[in-house]
Amino acid sequence: MQTKHLCLTAEGASKFARSMGVPEVPEESLITDYAKMRWKKNLEPDANPVECQMGKMGTVGAVAVDMDGNIACATSTGGMINKMEGRVGDTPCVGCGGYADNKIGAVSPTGHGEAIMKVTLSRLVLFHMEQGKTPEEASDLALAYMKERVDGLGGVVVVDHNGTWAARFSSLQMSWAAAQQGKLHFGLFHGDHFTEPVEEHT
Ligand code: ASP
Repeated sequence: MQTKHLCLTAEGASKFARSMGVPEVPEESLITDYAKMRWKKNLEPDANPVECQMGKMGTVGAVAVDMDGNIACATSTGGMINKMEGRVGDTPCVGCGGYADNKIGAVSPTGHGEAIMKVTLSRLVLFHMEQGKTPEEASDLALAYMKERVDGLGGVVVVDHNGTWAARFSSLQMSWAAAQQGKLHFGLFHGDHFTEPVEEHT
């Protein structure tokens, strides 16, 4: 363990990352032409905020169980556009943008961070699993609750301690994939479930 803390922000987080040897790149190199185009489009008077938010968001979430039963989640946000300076989304907030417990399972979500935070979406999925629901049932219950209570749409990837997994979403689409016992499962739209053999590397 490199620090006793769970969450660092701002300059303190940067200092810690530097001390851990994480390489740095110039900030300008993180601003892509695509991001600039999307931002400018959103400023147009007739801009549709939902449309502008869509596109190559780049959100990546993952959950996994290893052979010793250790469970983990990871979420890398694609971000929302036109936020207030200082806005913190769900992604770094424990229980919102991810949660993992070896006794239950792990969750990684995507969607509108403000809605996800209002219902602590990841912990809510695990709560339903603690109550005996399958990962799929728990995901659907939690996503329905988020829609009903705060009008929020999103998606989750979930795994339980037995390796039973689910990829569920209330948004129009969510690209997802799962690898288990030599098989790759994947899909994009509701009802999709494609499979193909996958080579597992040990
Ligand atoms: N949940 C993220 C946010 O609100 C967006 C995403 O990456 O799905 O910042």
